[in-house]
Amino acid sequence: MADLNGEVRNLIDGELVGASNKATFENINPATEEVIGVCADGTKDDMERAIGAARRAFDETDWSTHHAFRQRCLEQLNSALDEARDELRQIVIAEAGSPVLIAHQVQVDTYIDAMPYWSDLAGGYQYDQPLSDTIFMGAPQRRILLREAVGVVGAITPWNFPLYLNLAKLGPALAAGNTLVLKPAPDTPWSATNLGRLILEKTDIPAGVCNIVASADHSVGAQLSADPRVDLVTFTGSTATGRKVGEAGAATIKKIFLELGGKSATIVLDDIELEKVAPMSGIAVCTHAGQGCAIQTRTLLPREKYEEGVELIANTMRNVAYGDPLNPAHLMGPLVSKRQQERVLAYIEKGRQEGARVVTGGGVPAHLDKGYFVEPTLLADVDPDSTVAQEEIFGPVLCVIPYEDEEDAIRIANNSIYGLSGGIWSGSEERALAVARRIRTGTMSINGAQWFDIDTPFGGYRQSGVGRENGVAGFEEYLESKVVALPK
Ligand code: NAD
Repeated sequence: MADLNGEVRNLIDGELVGASNKATFENINPATEEVIGVCADGTKDDMERAIGAARRAFDETDWSTHHAFRQRCLEQLNSALDEARDELRQIVIAEAGSPVLIAHQVQVDTYIDAMPYWSDLAGGYQYDQPLSDTIFMGAPQRRILLREAVGVVGAITPWNFPLYLNLAKLGPALAAGNTLVLKPAPDTPWSATNLGRLILEKTDIPAGVCNIVASADHSVGAQLSADPRVDLVTFTGSTATGRKVGEAGAATIKKIFLELGGKSATIVLDDIELEKVAPMSGIAVCTHAGQGCAIQTRTLLPREKYEEGVELIANTMRNVAYGDPLNPAHLMGPLVSKRQQERVLAYIEKGRQEGARVVTGGGVPAHLDKGYFVEPTLLADVDPDSTVAQEEIFGPVLCVIPYEDEEDAIRIANNSIYGLSGGIWSGSEERALAVARRIRTGTMSINGAQWFDIDTPFGGYRQSGVGRENGVAGFEEYLESKVVALPK
């Protein structure tokens, strides 16, 4: 692989800097287990300085009120991202183990293409919104709703779609006039630090407005939720960590915006041919080795077609091409780290112990001697209350569950602490839509249709999160509301 040009330094207060104690941590390619380089291991002092810089930039510059300037700066960033596409793809392949197949789509290009949505909103959003006139004690009143930036935003992101998720926070937070401190996941630091380099070298975004602090120490991220100078924390990651962020943020009554885990269900109704369904159910769970929060990881089949469905889906999964992420035929690369590989294998073992049948996969592939791979795995006869049906595995593992009738299918689909995504297959769109209305979840797909676009408000019901990312609703998460009344 060519030189990745990974940025070793963090962006703090308009400068690319090493860690205050000069420490670095290793960036590991999960497909080869090789160290591809290092990154500054941001310290508590570095985070302290970054938050201070963001606070000053918010309080002492006109960044939050100069909408046209922000639009220009974000347009500069869009151009810089456009030129850097190839470099950013190479990084996401090397540090996240992402297949090149999806590096050209959802990992990198989809969100770079979407970025003009945010620069346009920066300049074009109606920040002053008239409300209806009222009469108070006989006197007519005029009222205006002012939408204003919240202040300093702390953004914390995971490693599975690192560039996408960094941009999905940075784009709307800056467009709405906030200043930002971004803390990326330690597994994928360069998908953040390279953004810092582009911001510094290719844009007029003022010093302190955008700070990026990579660190191997999770508690450096925790500082963002606890610091009283931070007004809003936007977090994407696991539900367990989301809870901690919420608890820490409560002490200073921050706005907390959470995009968390999922355990989404596909319901296959009894009026559709299984041949249409099986490829999608088997392939989706193997995409990027199942490391996607909205992937449908439970498939519910009607009892009378259960064995046939299990076999069809297993056949699809047996034929999934995987291995070296640089091979364009591969749908699936490795898990991001040894820790994740061990975690996924432990879940498969737990499934076995709880009575699930391993129809295909179930272990480490024999043909790959390097990399944190797990075989595409289908678990059948899964008890809907068991651990593997309830907890997020975050690997290429599909749980198949039989149901008795439509009511039973809806009940099993909703039997989850999560509610992020889901799907329905049916010969009748009307019937499918009626079922979709009864599933407690933030997005639904009928007969394989895709809901994603930059204007889609994405997020979860229940413990899959609070708030919505993307769309105007996502932009408005980063705005406060102030009502001003004037005599009429
Ligand atoms: P994680 O929760 O372990 O870590 C996420 C981030 O939080 C990392 O940057 C980490 O350093 C930081 N962190 C860890 N402890 C912290 C603390 N106490 N306070 C503040 N920050 C802390 O998640 P992960 O393993 O990196 O990512 C996988 C998870 O992300 C899965 O659960 C997946 O479903 C979820 N995810 C959700 C979405 C969504 O939009 N809903 C998208 C992608 C991933």
